[in-house]
Amino acid sequence: MAKVMKPGEANGGNFVQCKGCKKTLFASEFKDNLFVCNYCGHHHRLTWRQRVECTFDEGSFKPLDTELVSVDSLQFPEYAEKHTASVEKLDQNDSVVGGIAQLDGIDVSTAISDFTFMGGSMGSVAGEIITRALERGAEQKMPVIIFCASGGARMQEGLLSLMQMAKTTAGVHKCREVGVPFIAVFTDPTMAGVLASYASIADVIIAEPRCLIGFAGARVSKQAQVVKAPDDFQTAEFVFRSGMLDRIVERREMRGMLTSLVSMFGAHLREGTNG
Ligand SMILES: [Zn+2]
Repeated sequence: MAKVMKPGEANGGNFVQCKGCKKTLFASEFKDNLFVCNYCGHHHRLTWRQRVECTFDEGSFKPLDTELVSVDSLQFPEYAEKHTASVEKLDQNDSVVGGIAQLDGIDVSTAISDFTFMGGSMGSVAGEIITRALERGAEQKMPVIIFCASGGARMQEGLLSLMQMAKTTAGVHKCREVGVPFIAVFTDPTMAGVLASYASIADVIIAEPRCLIGFAGARVSKQAQVVKAPDDFQTAEFVFRSGMLDRIVERREMRGMLTSLVSMFGAHLREGTNG
């Protein structure tokens, strides 16, 4: 009998069950469709490697800052074990991978959150990689694209995690000072300390359809609601109607959209009209 795979895992099996409509999909078609269900349009979460494959010029991504490793400075119970298990299972040092990539030959500085690594949480390493991606863009005059996929700050690093909110925000301002554009792509989910820091102050904010976007989690939000929230509360569509997003872009159109933006911004940077 053919192996049924989990959503988002389309290498090596024949079938995948959609997390949205629960229909069974051919794994090869699912992968060709960039891990989007061709029945209901559900955009499944991607690992950072899948995001690179779906987005950038083939073979152009060069990872940087791979030497950074988190320190369990608070001796938080079970943190070291959980972190080590994620590192070994996923073959990456933390929840964010940064580097340089190309879109139609144009260099961009990028950082990609990966929800499969401890919920994409932003600890000191993730924050540093995001900040370095922004600073690299500012210094080398490259547009910056950051893909967000995170439950928020990493509780196991306490205040060190919260400090990343200020640090990444300062990174955005370094880009702003020299006129380097910063594009944030919200994917499922973009929450809490990530939304409340660098992500929501990007020059251009794009989201994938129906992704979860919010500050407090659904349970807390429900308890705090004075009036009944709409059914699509904390989705990309709700946030778009509220004026916080510039556009909702289907995954198959994301590469084209980002390429258009960096082409336009690249010309702006080359002409030296920034500043
Ligand atoms: Zn579906």
